[in-house]
Amino acid sequence: MARNTHTSPSGQDNSLAHIHGPENEEQNNADPRQNALPALTRTSYTMAWICTRRIEMSAAIAALDSQHQPLAQSFSDPNIYTLGSIQKKNIVIAMTDPFTVTLITTMFPALTVSIVMGIGSGVPVGTGIRLGDAVINTPLLPRGGAVRDDYDRAVRSGELHHHHHHHQPSNVLLTALAQFERDQTLLRSRVSGNLAQIQETCAEFAHPGPEYDFLFQSEYEHTGGDCEAGCDMGYLIPREEGGEGRLNASPTVHRGLILYWDGGMRNGVARDRMVENVNTIRGAMGWADDRKVLCFDSGAAGLMHHLPSLVVRGISDYADSHASPRWQAYAAAVAAAVARDLVRHVLATEDLLVDGEDEREEGHGN
Ligand SMILES: [Zn+2]
Repeated sequence: MARNTHTSPSGQDNSLAHIHGPENEEQNNADPRQNALPALTRTSYTMAWICTRRIEMSAAIAALDSQHQPLAQSFSDPNIYTLGSIQKKNIVIAMTDPFTVTLITTMFPALTVSIVMGIGSGVPVGTGIRLGDAVINTPLLPRGGAVRDDYDRAVRSGELHHHHHHHQPSNVLLTALAQFERDQTLLRSRVSGNLAQIQETCAEFAHPGPEYDFLFQSEYEHTGGDCEAGCDMGYLIPREEGGEGRLNASPTVHRGLILYWDGGMRNGVARDRMVENVNTIRGAMGWADDRKVLCFDSGAAGLMHHLPSLVVRGISDYADSHASPRWQAYAAAVAAAVARDLVRHVLATEDLLVDGEDEREEGHGN
């Protein structure tokens, strides 16, 4: 599915000349599954993209410039790996779960950073988030920005308990993130360009249509089947943008807190209470606005203990009972489009750090 024969979204020449590895003599690479793909070693890979769903892995693969040959894998490692590159960065795409995620670093011992990418549930009220937008976690010192939390415990005690110490994203990731966000207009057009290229690979990644972006009042429960068939549109919340919906290929990238929620948040009332609770604590602690709760995430719990990571989530539902699979493929493609642009900035940052280790920007870690 990788776009071996296309111009990449970054406008770079997509020839295999950019692949760093021992065997890059292959010229005619129309079929990415041929044995003639470049074969690298396990230590050639320094970045992992980690996902938990098949549709997320498909989107991630579609965001690669090129694929590489698979490498021999231990019988005891059930993770699914796809290897490839974006520009000169060699990337392991791993489909895993919290129980086997550690095996990724055993298989690829040179990994230094990861992007946990895929779909998540957006917090719609007071955030401007629409289906098909993206959320990147805000790093929190001394812990990462993705906070695993327990609703009942938080309500009982009136404060957040951090169950786990997440790895802080590395300086390379933080600097890359700062560069990524610097110009919002450019950011939007870069992500849209990447998204268009991913969508070319498979019709499944198409935008479902803004008319299916339903946000119901928190108390109004889903009635079964498709919302448009069974749910009462009288309970829809008027949108800030006048109900016009977003331009199809122009997702907005938000930055804030992502709460891990085992099994997925599927209740509008509980969602609102949890967000209010966390945001109250946030206000009491004087955290900045970029640490608002923007997203609930069921898939990545436990994935971040093992590598410095950023979490990128495409929003596929509003964490309520109306959540459906309709937006998942598009949201996964949006996450992959954002991750691809982050890689470009990681590469630029790494070049910068080689030339002057102490010249990276201050203040990006908040
Ligand atoms: Zn519904």
